[in-house]
Amino acid sequence: MKPKILVTGGAGYIGSHTCIALHQAGYDIIVFDNLSNSSVEAINRVSNLIKTPVTFIKGDIRDRASLQKVFIEHSFFGVIHFAGLKAVGESVEKPLRYYDNNVSGTLNLLDIMRAHDVKNFVFSSSATVYGDPDVLPINENAPRSATNPYGHSKLMVERILEDLTSADEGWSLVTLRYFNPVGAHVSGQIGEDPNGIPNNLMPYISQVAVGKLAQLSVFGNDYATPDGTGVRDFIHVTDLAYGHVAALDYIQQQDHPTGFLPINLGTGKGSSVLELLTAFSEVSGQRIPYQFAPRRAGDIASCYASADKAKALLGWEAELSIKDMCADTWRWQRLNPNGFS
Ligand code: NAD
Ligand code: UDP
Repeated sequence: MKPKILVTGGAGYIGSHTCIALHQAGYDIIVFDNLSNSSVEAINRVSNLIKTPVTFIKGDIRDRASLQKVFIEHSFFGVIHFAGLKAVGESVEKPLRYYDNNVSGTLNLLDIMRAHDVKNFVFSSSATVYGDPDVLPINENAPRSATNPYGHSKLMVERILEDLTSADEGWSLVTLRYFNPVGAHVSGQIGEDPNGIPNNLMPYISQVAVGKLAQLSVFGNDYATPDGTGVRDFIHVTDLAYGHVAALDYIQQQDHPTGFLPINLGTGKGSSVLELLTAFSEVSGQRIPYQFAPRRAGDIASCYASADKAKALLGWEAELSIKDMCADTWRWQRLNPNGFS
């Protein structure tokens, strides 16, 4: 029988791509999502792409009764936990909403997992837990800190997972720290669909390219980086999706170590804002107007991963290039100028 996986937040950007990768790898998936930041159309398109209807349950991870029902009806090998809120600026304005969703929701989920003896867990953490790193590339032992409620919510969950593993060694808690996920499925059928004006660089660039936004503001050109603009470790969402499959495959190995396992998912390579902009322009053939603007509050100069642990432990490494990330984003943007709506 195929191992059954509960995918919370599986209708979202990273979750939907991961559903495809999980299906291809032979996992049976159940998606649980409250659609607070996604559309059921993403699930429909995933079903079409994998030529199999995805089992979708509309529900909220904070709602004990509906989660409980799912665990009574299905016997899970493990849970991949994407569900959560992710907008840094909004988290500053609405901290309680973020702690409730990201921390209380996760506690609820873990408690129900414990009650049903499901102890394999893959958590969506973030490079944001490294704060402003002293040493690059960043490895998993780097000090952790956060500067906003979103980052704190990820740190708090990491702490909860560490405490859980000290109390009960039966848990396998793989904590994947994503760097900067970008790109879209190669089909152009699913991709990132931000609400309103995007905060993140790649969706902003693609909306300028398609003519929805007038020009990009490049936040800061006086950083201590090769061209003065911020440097990030952009990773294709499809590579990221395979990272989740690799994590589950790892947990399935009989002799794998249990406990809290933090693992970076990045390419190990930094690219600047201007490099990404140039690559997008080349790949799309579009002129992308931009202006330099002041630094954005809270931004750091450079952030890129050491991807060694993922390779050593999971046998996973990112394969897709910046050009692939731009080409796939552009295809998604061109085919779906208004996202899923
Ligand atoms: P997303 O918003 O596209 O997906 C999250 C999904 O969770 C959405 O479909 C949303 O409807 C659902 N959800 C939110 N709260 C819920 C709740 N209480 N109950 C049930 N469903 C709920 O975001 P994403 O980019 O796919 O991110 C997935 C995870 O990865 C998040 O936890 C995010 O914090 C983390 N992460 C994302 C990035 C990034 O840049 N995209 C970087 C690092 C970490
Ligand atoms: N950025 C930018 N203009 C934008 C959005 C982002 O110059 O409209 C820069 C930002 O200052 C940072 C990089 O792009 O240096 C990546 O930002 P993003 O918000 O995508 O991800 P972050 O690393 O902040 O999570």
